[in-house]
Amino acid sequence: MRRTQAFIPTSKEAPSDAQLASHIFLSRAGFVTQSAAGLYNYMPLAKRVIKKIENIVNEEMTKVGAQEVELSFVTPASLWEESGRIEKFGKELLRFKDRKETQFVLAPTNEEMMVDFVRNRITSYKNLPVNLYQIKTKFRDEARPRFGLMRGREFIMKDGYSFHSSTEDLDREFDVMEVAYKRILSRLGLDYRVVEADSGAIGGSESKELMVIADSGEDTIAVCSKCEYGANIEAATRAERKEIPEAPEATFNKFQTPDIKSIDDLAAFFKVDPYYTVKTVAKKVIYDDSEEIVLFFLRGCDTLQEVKAINATEAIDIVDASEEELLAVGIIPGFIGPLDQDKAKHVIDISLKNAANMICGANEEDYHFIGVDLSVISEVAYFADIAEVNEGDSCPHCDGELSFTKGIEVGHIFKLGTTYSKALKAEYLDENGKAQPFIMGTYGMGISRLVASVIEQHHDENGCIWTKATAPYMINIMVSNIKDAEQMALGEKLYSDLQEANVEVMLDDRKERFGFKMKDAELIGFPYTIIIGKELVNGNVQIYERCTTEKTAVSVENVLAEIMEYAKK
Ligand code: ATP
Ligand code: MG
Repeated sequence: MRRTQAFIPTSKEAPSDAQLASHIFLSRAGFVTQSAAGLYNYMPLAKRVIKKIENIVNEEMTKVGAQEVELSFVTPASLWEESGRIEKFGKELLRFKDRKETQFVLAPTNEEMMVDFVRNRITSYKNLPVNLYQIKTKFRDEARPRFGLMRGREFIMKDGYSFHSSTEDLDREFDVMEVAYKRILSRLGLDYRVVEADSGAIGGSESKELMVIADSGEDTIAVCSKCEYGANIEAATRAERKEIPEAPEATFNKFQTPDIKSIDDLAAFFKVDPYYTVKTVAKKVIYDDSEEIVLFFLRGCDTLQEVKAINATEAIDIVDASEEELLAVGIIPGFIGPLDQDKAKHVIDISLKNAANMICGANEEDYHFIGVDLSVISEVAYFADIAEVNEGDSCPHCDGELSFTKGIEVGHIFKLGTTYSKALKAEYLDENGKAQPFIMGTYGMGISRLVASVIEQHHDENGCIWTKATAPYMINIMVSNIKDAEQMALGEKLYSDLQEANVEVMLDDRKERFGFKMKDAELIGFPYTIIIGKELVNGNVQIYERCTTEKTAVSVENVLAEIMEYAKK
């Protein structure tokens, strides 16, 4: 491509709301423009990057026997009614009617459509397993679209679905997909981690997320210092605490604790470790068609993990409860304890099962109980893992320690089971001629989010640094002075030689200052720039490597061979 003919509107200005490097540089370097909140147009450079990522995904999917299909973007709402998700998906699902008043949705994901696609077409166990995927636009009317391509409303996702006649076969395919997804991310040049994830309300059994490691990531992941264990904080678990603080010795008693409402105050007042205090988090829990106040109890040293809390209550959402709402059901904020289960539902963290020597609210203004032995309620109360792991907690699999890092969720693989096939009555005949629902897996990968992720991980203050697998062009030929016939001739020669060798190359033949063109090349992030400048009179040019910012002098005779070496490495 000749730069004089290219549509790459670079700019000094970033969008006013851009905070992330990827948002800033993809906008400034002429990859994307925003058309409305969460909606982006891809310019030629972005289109090239997307195609590269898609090619790698296609290659790796083909290797493991997954087949590409394409479903219509506009989806009959009736399928979403069949699965029951039309309500659950809430406002993220964009609904509309056609001229005949038939209701449709814009696909945010395609479990329903894919089940409908195979139902009555795959009818025998003999035709299983099968793994079908597509790479296509999705639409989710996200409440807070932000960070450019990272969280758009319209975005490109690879969504895949596998169908099986046994859970063992699903397990096998799940592992195959994990390996394939890892290969994709390695080929893209990304530093990533596979982590255990929350399987949430979809009703599957196991799921893993592929996280690109980046400080700007929206997800917190807990990783072990010794073993491979990694988990999204929403799903991370820990081993039982090993070093237990010395227990306060006290017999059961009610104690006056004027104005002591926080855990810190309580622990200080009784001079005990917060480990021996009971923290109460009062929440309003929202279900499909109702809501209620639920009290969550944890050790004072822990915090409530909201996704775990949602799972423990099978809620749709959990929001803070106001003081008025608590008082309305007779709960005294600040002095709530787990020993009065009449007023509200209790969910107690598993680390409190049979906990002794505890201090907790006495459900009475200005009073706490001390010397509480929770084994008295261990038979009747509802216990669940609702605590967020802390840095320094013990790994659930080895004696290592957990620490936190930030990640961008670029992929999610999921053992779905029969949730959708049952709901949509999609069945095959097993070996005994008996109808069975398909056992399913689902495998998502955010293609447009990956474009942003590459830049989150690979940029500097001057712009993008594309990895070799993702670069829109591998080489940029910079003719410093286009009026210099010799410089221009060499530029043209290298340009045609590289094109001949199937190397993706840009020829910067613009009549602009060298400094301006160089800044532009850095902003766009070509892996290599061949600088044809003043040194040409001595038979030399330079190769500029974007990721190291190093310039190496090379003789004109050797430059083609050298740059081909660089491009391959
Ligand atoms: P998130 O927690 O980030 O909202 P999700 O759990 O809703 O993601 P999935 O439903 O598992 O995501 O979708 C599969 C993949 O699609 C995600 O791993 C992510 O890479 C991508 N993705 C999801 N939502 C968006 C979005 N709004 N913009 C861009 N990519 C997205
Ligand atoms: Mg989401």
